[in-house]
Amino acid sequence: MSTEFHTELQTAVEKRRNFAIISHPDAGKTTLTEKLLLYGGAIHEAGAVKARASQRKVTSDWMEMEQQRGISITSTVLQFEYRDRQINLLDTPGHQDFSEDTYRTLAAADNAVMLEDAAKGLEPQTRKLFEVCRMRQIPIFTFFNKLDRPSRTPLELLDEIEQELGLQTYAVNWPIGMGDYFKGVFDRRTQKIHLFERTEHGKKAAKDTAISLGDPRIEELLDKDLYYQLKEDLEVLEGVGPEFDLELIHQGKMTPVFFGSAMTNFGVQLFLDAFLEYALKPGERKSSAGSLKPSYPEFTGFVFKLQANMDPKHRDRVAFVRVCTGKFEKDMTVNHARTGKNVRLSRPQKLFAQDRDVVDVAYPGDVIGLNNPGVFAIGDTIYTGQKVEYEGIPCFSPELFAYLRNPNPSKFKQFHKGVSELREEGAVQIMYSADEAKRDPILAAVGQLQFEVVQFRLLNEYNVETHIEMLPYSVARWVLGGWEALEKVGRLFNSVTVKDNWGRPVLLFKNEWNLQQIQSDHPDLKLSAIAPLGS
Ligand code: GDP
Repeated sequence: MSTEFHTELQTAVEKRRNFAIISHPDAGKTTLTEKLLLYGGAIHEAGAVKARASQRKVTSDWMEMEQQRGISITSTVLQFEYRDRQINLLDTPGHQDFSEDTYRTLAAADNAVMLEDAAKGLEPQTRKLFEVCRMRQIPIFTFFNKLDRPSRTPLELLDEIEQELGLQTYAVNWPIGMGDYFKGVFDRRTQKIHLFERTEHGKKAAKDTAISLGDPRIEELLDKDLYYQLKEDLEVLEGVGPEFDLELIHQGKMTPVFFGSAMTNFGVQLFLDAFLEYALKPGERKSSAGSLKPSYPEFTGFVFKLQANMDPKHRDRVAFVRVCTGKFEKDMTVNHARTGKNVRLSRPQKLFAQDRDVVDVAYPGDVIGLNNPGVFAIGDTIYTGQKVEYEGIPCFSPELFAYLRNPNPSKFKQFHKGVSELREEGAVQIMYSADEAKRDPILAAVGQLQFEVVQFRLLNEYNVETHIEMLPYSVARWVLGGWEALEKVGRLFNSVTVKDNWGRPVLLFKNEWNLQQIQSDHPDLKLSAIAPLGS
């Protein structure tokens, strides 16, 4: 490798930070995203992203939604520059869009931002996504939003994270008051108080006034009681709170915590500045050829998401690839590890807002969208140079199950071809009853939309009309140790056993409670919410 190329790669990696936001619907992800873009100068007036998102929410017909949505297709990655860094924000679809893609996106993220509504604290979708981050051991930044409204106390919120997620917290800033009495935050990095000013719905970057703790105007500016409360809180934090530890943050064991109000822009810049300082740059990744550094000179990457365009007039599919090492260049020819074929990457696209730009080059930490004429599947590696294969992306615990029926026997072949191709592509998980007499595939998904996509595509691409029969289960667990382990425990009540696509046993439960019962009755039975990798 020429030293010039080496420097080019190093510089690109140093510059990049990539992250995904994990949150529960309504915590303010769209609002925060928009404000981050505002600070990044990618948009000049907030409102554009939001308008489309709310349009989407009121549309009940998902097909229409798909055509209009723009947002989840086009914002798969938002790229913006801030303080000489290039930030890649990976979209994690929520709401009705919640699907396995939401989990898979975290496989491509180097950092996560856990966004919580400060009035609500931890919510279900956030917890699930957190588990995936924990598995990957990536840094997690916490942002408590909506401090301009009545909230839970900051100490309570931190305690919840510590107790329930087992994650140490370090408050980087601390709120002063809340709701109508929200006065701002104390930044422990600079030891300054940043005063909150209500802007007109935060359309422009907020004016930031910072004063020091010793400022004589402080009691008057803050309100005496709030000032004393702050002093007391800070004493508690300094006294019993853990010390700042960047190492632990990078290992995903400690979360730096921020408070603010995305809607009014408050705290967004403080967050962004600290994020840039603490976040991990693109790092090494395990592969079949050992751990590869981003400066490895050959291009490598893996597919983490596939997007099928639902509009029959434009039946293109896009495969989203996370660049892991080397440099991507338009028109390059790469090897496809799973099939051993050569693929020319002729129409790469970087997707930003509504415009699809063609990307000419991309570096580690970037995401590119490739036109995918059915070549790529989730988890596929592409590479130049010697053969490299990254660890696959596991299947995540489905929560919705349904028999998929083909009422027309003459369509038997198309039906099975379609089901197997859609499974391979990662559109849905397929399971089968352990009872050989029941041959219909069971669709297993994390979001309702996945079923609709499967049915729609079977009809449009394979010309097969199908019926769905929902099954009354909501929890799935893979049995570690396989059929042998399962036989040892004997008959299990309140669960059914099915096989995944590789014939491995999976237990389905009606609810968490039934799962817990079995776990307490059979402590030796080891169950996993995430499928073991490999077949
Ligand atoms: P998402 O579902 O997580 O993308 O959430 P949105 O960004 O769509 O926000 C949900 C609702 O919360 C919207 O009505 C926002 O205007 C509101 N919201 C977002 N951030 C704040 C905030 O900081 N303060 C207040 N009061 N409302 C907010």
